[in-house]
Amino acid sequence: MLSLPQGSSSPAESGRPPLNPGTLYLVATPIGNLEDITLRALRTLRECDVIAAEDTRRTGLLLKHLGVAKPQVSYHQFNEARRSEELLDRLGRGEKIALVSDAGTPGISDPGMRVVQAALAAGFRVESVPGPCALISALTASGLPTEEFHFLGFLPHKSGARLRQLQALQAVPGSLVLYESPFRIRRLLEELTAVFPERFVVVARELTKRFEEFCRGFPRDLLDRSGQRAPKGEFVVMIAPSGYAPIQPQTPDRFGLAQ
Ligand code: SAM
Repeated sequence: MLSLPQGSSSPAESGRPPLNPGTLYLVATPIGNLEDITLRALRTLRECDVIAAEDTRRTGLLLKHLGVAKPQVSYHQFNEARRSEELLDRLGRGEKIALVSDAGTPGISDPGMRVVQAALAAGFRVESVPGPCALISALTASGLPTEEFHFLGFLPHKSGARLRQLQALQAVPGSLVLYESPFRIRRLLEELTAVFPERFVVVARELTKRFEEFCRGFPRDLLDRSGQRAPKGEFVVMIAPSGYAPIQPQTPDRFGLAQ
């Protein structure tokens, strides 16, 4: 159970300014390890008027763990347009709204952008309460260059569109970062074997969780090591820029074997 340091359970006691009325707060939440909630995220969740959550049941579990009791409204990809209007009405009444997604940073391959743009266009204040984000955790620990990178989120599902997008990326400089589901990770490695056979790849799996691992190699090598069954977990796949000198750590990884 997480708790705030003594004396910081209310704005007055913490010496921090209270939340701003009529503000939309984008609150990042853990991507696996519940210790990764920030003190500011916790305070924002405690002090806001309402939490707009991608999945209220899932956020309910997090709130319970954090000891926060707060009303929630659902805000997901299928009600974004309608809900954005309602959230704007609330901001207009001076409410403080915390927007959270299921995990990580709202708006990064998750709902959020629509209400952010609507709030800005209507003249409301939008604040980021930064914290976990799979792409940043993966890239910074990968050993790949970070000074220039291109984040794509998820590739389309259809084969032709996926291949076209990957081929277009051959000309993009810097490290490439993708999100992928366990069901398509082998397929992605097959596609990378065809499109980027000479590029070094790092696969980050289960970040911040018990079985976190980084698997490094050329696409063909990673594919061979991944086994026949779809590996379990969540994945960030990163492709090194051409000319990158691969770093292979001394400790071997166990891609596909860890559960
Ligand atoms: N908003 C989130 C963020 O800030 O990273 C991303 C949400 S997106 C719907 C979920 C995808 O993020 C997963 O399919 C996976 O590609 C990546 N991801 C999320 N958590 C992860 C983790 N613990 N380890 C590896 N990848 C993760």
